[in-house]
Amino acid sequence: MNLAEAVAAGQEAVDGAKGNFWRGKTNVYTCEACVAQWVTINRDAGATPFLIKCRKCGAMCRSACYNNDIQPENGFPFPPHFEWYRPDPDDETVEEWQFEHISNGGLIMRMINYEK
Ligand SMILES: [Zn+2]
Repeated sequence: MNLAEAVAAGQEAVDGAKGNFWRGKTNVYTCEACVAQWVTINRDAGATPFLIKCRKCGAMCRSACYNNDIQPENGFPFPPHFEWYRPDPDDETVEEWQFEHISNGGLIMRMINYEK
């Protein structure tokens, strides 16, 4: 499987699913150790993990499962740190270990660069 195949399979999995994959929604992940909070936004429809690694201390951060007030409809009181997205088929930053997750409809995460 190459990235183009993984992206196509992932898009198809999401399109054919009945679940809500929260495009445009914001989520908050809270670190179980240092209590840091990381805000993410879903740029595409797709699956995101329940746990991510804390960028401050390396412990695990737990998802609020989209139960938070930091939503676009509330005027976005806090800018997200990270975005979840489905990569372009020619995205060279994606690594091979991520292909399976992507082919199952999973999104990958990157830091949002507000300086560009
Ligand atoms: Zn932490």
